[in-house]
Amino acid sequence: MEQIVLPDAINLEDDAVVILWEDAHRSPFPHRYLRLRCPCANCVDEMSGKRTLDPDTVPQDVKAVDQMPAGKYGVQFLWSDAHYTGIYTYKVLRAACPCIICSEARAKADKVNGNSPGDIETVPGGNT
Ligand SMILES: [Zn+2]
Ligand SMILES: [Zn+2]
Repeated sequence: MEQIVLPDAINLEDDAVVILWEDAHRSPFPHRYLRLRCPCANCVDEMSGKRTLDPDTVPQDVKAVDQMPAGKYGVQFLWSDAHYTGIYTYKVLRAACPCIICSEARAKADKVNGNSPGDIETVPGGNT
């Protein structure tokens, strides 16, 4: 079993949802970035796993206005566009951490593995 890192604190700040992890890592998620990653059945097709949420329907200034724990493994946010059904697991949140350290680690891992699973489309390398 892999170890799941849990948050010490989740702070709803003006410009970001900031998660402080128990291993002292800090993840500043821009509100809209998280909202667009909502994993609920209204935003993602459960059969295909395809994102059905149209980003154009999400206000640019959308914000998490409240949060509640979803069991031991995740958190639900109440968004300013009245959406709240998505459960963000801590595992997914940590994997989506937008900080520079994690972004670079992910870029490296993608190169080593040669295959990036999930919804990240890689453009075949052109000869620039
Ligand atoms: Zn949703
Ligand atoms: Zn990070």
